[in-house]
Amino acid sequence: MREKEFSLRRKRLWENLRGKEVDAFLLLNVEGSEQPNIRYLTGFTGTFAILILSEESFFLTDPRYTEQAQGQVDLPVLEVRGRWIPQVIARLMDLGVKRVGIGSTRTTLHLFEELRRAGEGMEFVPVGAPVEEMRRIKSEEEIQRIRQAVELTEAGLHWIVSRLRPSKTEREVALALEFWYRKEGADDVAFDPIVAGGARSAMPHHRAGDHRLRPGEIVLFDIGVRMDGYCADITRVVALGDPDPEVRRIYKLVLAANAAGISAVRAGVSGRDADTAARRLLEAAGLAEHFGHGLGHGVGLEVHEGPRLSQTSEDLLVRGNVVTVEPGLYFPGKFGVRLEDLVVVEEEGALILSSFPKEELWVVGGKR
Ligand code: ZN
Ligand code: ZN
Repeated sequence: MREKEFSLRRKRLWENLRGKEVDAFLLLNVEGSEQPNIRYLTGFTGTFAILILSEESFFLTDPRYTEQAQGQVDLPVLEVRGRWIPQVIARLMDLGVKRVGIGSTRTTLHLFEELRRAGEGMEFVPVGAPVEEMRRIKSEEEIQRIRQAVELTEAGLHWIVSRLRPSKTEREVALALEFWYRKEGADDVAFDPIVAGGARSAMPHHRAGDHRLRPGEIVLFDIGVRMDGYCADITRVVALGDPDPEVRRIYKLVLAANAAGISAVRAGVSGRDADTAARRLLEAAGLAEHFGHGLGHGVGLEVHEGPRLSQTSEDLLVRGNVVTVEPGLYFPGKFGVRLEDLVVVEEEGALILSSFPKEELWVVGGKR
C-alpha cells in the first residue's frame, strides 16, 4: 500500500510538471539536500540518491545505500560509483531527453553549473518547488503519523513537567526529555528542544543552556518528536512555583490570541488573515511590537514547511494543510510566553491535534 502511495505521488508530480514542458525531472539528494522530498516520492531515507522522473523513471544511489534502496524503493535501483554526474547525464541521454526540470530551492548553484557543463545539448530548467507544493496537502495517512508524533511529544511533556524541579539546568531537562523520547520510540527529536527558564523565555529560539531553573520563574518548552518521518511542534509554558501576576496577565492574552488564531483557520482563509486574527488582540492590548514572528507554519516531513501564517504570507489555506498556531509575547530581560498548537485545516475550521492543557498557567512544585 505504501509503495502505491509513492508511485501515485510521482505520477501526480509528473502531471503537475506538464506545464513546464520538460522531458524529465531530476531530484538530486546530495548530503541529504533533498531528504524530505526524496522520502516523500520514494520512501528512501538515506543521504545520497538521484531520482530521474520521466516517461521511464530511475533511482540512482551509491554502494553505501544500494541494499537499503532495494528494500525501500519501488523503482529500478542503479548503482553509481565514482563521479556520479557523468553517469546521470549518460542515463538522461539514453532516455533522449532535452529539457530537464530541477527544483530551485535545494540545488546549489555549483551543482547546477556542473550539470550544465556536463550535459552538452541539454537544457536544465529551474522549476520552482513542485514537491514542496505537493507536500503541503497531507493525506489521512500522513495526518495519522503527525498525530502519533503529537501524542508522544505531549506524553513526554507530561512526564517532564511532573518531574520539573528548581536547580536542574535547562540542558539537563532537555536531555532527559530527549532520552525519554528515544526510549519511547521516536525516530529522533524534530529540532533541538527549546527549554527556556526565566528571562531566557523572552528569546523565541533560545536553546537549552546552562541556566539553572529557579523557584518563581517560568519555563517555556518548545518541543516535537519525529515519528515515522513526520514531525510535531508544540509550545507550552509552566511556572515553577507562584509566578508574578504580570506573567499571568500576559499568559491570558497569549491564550486569547492562540484561540483567535485557531478560530480563524479554515480552508479558503489566507495565511495573512489568520495571522491578523490573532495579532489584532495583541494590538488592542498595545503589545503588538512584542509579537515579532509570524503566527505559524506548515509541519510534515519537515518541522518548518508551507504554508506560512504571517503578515508577509501569500499562501491560501486549503483542506489537508497541517499548521501551527503559535502567538507569543516577549519582554527582553524579563520573560516571554508562547502557546503553540498543531491543527489540520478543514473546510469548516481547524481540527486541533494537540491537547496538552493550556487553559490555566500550570504551576509546578507548589509555593515560591
Ligand atoms: Zn515550536
Ligand atoms: Zn513552530
